[in-house]
Amino acid sequence: MITITDKHRCCGCEACVQRCPKQCILFVEDNEGFLYPTPDVSVCIECGLCEKVCPVLNQGDPKHPLNAYAAINQDDDIRAMSSSGGIFTSMAEKIIEDGGIVFGARFNDKWEVEHHYTETHEGLQEFRKSKYVQSRIGETYILAENFLKQGRKVLFSGTSCQIAGLNYFLRKPYDNLLTIDVVCHGVASPKIWREYLHTVSPVEDIHQISMKDKAISWRGYKLTITGKNNSISEKVSQNKYMLSYSQNLSLRPSCYQCPAKAGKSCSDVTLADYWGVEKLIPEMNDDRGTSFVCANTSKGEFFLKSLSVKMMKADYASSVPFNACIERSTIEPAARTAFWESYQNNGIAVLQSLKPIRANIFKRIIRRIVK
Ligand SMILES: Cc1cc2nc3c(=O)[nH]c(=O)nc-3n(C[C@H](O)[C@H](O)[C@H](O)COP(=O)(O)OP(=O)(O)OC[C@H]3O[C@@H](n4cnc5c(N)ncnc54)[C@H](O)[C@@H]3O)c2cc1C
Ligand code: SF4
Ligand code: SF4
Ligand code: SF4
Repeated sequence: MITITDKHRCCGCEACVQRCPKQCILFVEDNEGFLYPTPDVSVCIECGLCEKVCPVLNQGDPKHPLNAYAAINQDDDIRAMSSSGGIFTSMAEKIIEDGGIVFGARFNDKWEVEHHYTETHEGLQEFRKSKYVQSRIGETYILAENFLKQGRKVLFSGTSCQIAGLNYFLRKPYDNLLTIDVVCHGVASPKIWREYLHTVSPVEDIHQISMKDKAISWRGYKLTITGKNNSISEKVSQNKYMLSYSQNLSLRPSCYQCPAKAGKSCSDVTLADYWGVEKLIPEMNDDRGTSFVCANTSKGEFFLKSLSVKMMKADYASSVPFNACIERSTIEPAARTAFWESYQNNGIAVLQSLKPIRANIFKRIIRRIVK
């Protein structure tokens, strides 16, 4: 039976919850707003399945991709609506054209982040762009397994630990499954996001949120929230919510000991921002977003080759130093404990104590994270 004694050792993928044959594992929010499994010992039959599907307990070995690429979606509008080069949409559209189903993270009607699926091109819209909050997987592994068993093509996208969780949950390979993991340096607390949003606008008045608004530039992106009576559009270095995220204060504890980086998710394709592209492949840089794409399996490589996107071979080893979170976990900041103590005492006002970062200092922090 799964027991969480160290919160660094649960990434919240819900594989255990969904696999339990007695449905006796509750997912309970802690005081930081992250969900953890809590089995009901009176119902548990000690079958051990929850432990067998856990991506933290069953970590594989790190591995390098077969090939790496710089890639850009040729549709400028799609790229503008995406976080980096818009390659997620190219891959998802192809699956939908083949009659398949795409799973990804979206905002629900309360602007919380959750996993869901779509079978249409229009449905892809809500999966586009990074949401810097932990997405709730819910029952999507079970749904994906049902579609796979029916012989439908499935593209499942998520953070690396969510893809590792899916692979352990399924416990066997499916030819009709393609997986994408998006590189991430961490996911922020859904509770901090919920409470922050209330300080901006009542959620029912919000029309649109872009957590990676590239309207001005890819590197200098903004958080934009458009509401009926109040709207904001602030740079990451100025916005209080994004400061808590980019300073790694509000991350899930497992993100400091990530179980799924460096190819351990066993995804077919990994997507990241191609930071450093201006130095390594300048012809693929226009500051509107370039994807760093890793083909991890021959299935992933074959699928990427079938897309009509602008793609150039990249050198994995010389690209990773520009984006260390592809391989390494974020370092837990010393200030994290004080941040959460202050949150427990003062609530969301804790964000007010975070100071906007001057551009040169912000660049230095980003360089340190990258290193
Ligand atoms: C929380 C988070 C942090 C990230 N941090 C980095 C980073 O530090 N360095 C870096 O190189 N890249 C990072 N990325 C990945 C990167 O920004 C892009 O998501 C990726 O390159 C795909 O971009 P795209 O243009 O192809 O498509 P997009 O349309 O931007 O991709 C959307 C994809 O992201 C998934 N997604 C969005 N939000 C979430 C979420 N909360 N949980 C799970 N999946 C989600 C969707 O399901 C979809 O698959 C991060 C992504 C996320 C979600
Ligand atoms: S041991 Fe089996 S029954 Fe008990 S919580 Fe785990 S999966 Fe459920
Ligand atoms: S990492 Fe996933 S499978 Fe493991 S205990 Fe946490 S929620 Fe369950
Ligand atoms: S850093 Fe690792 S543990 Fe945290 S969300 Fe990303 S993949 Fe999961």
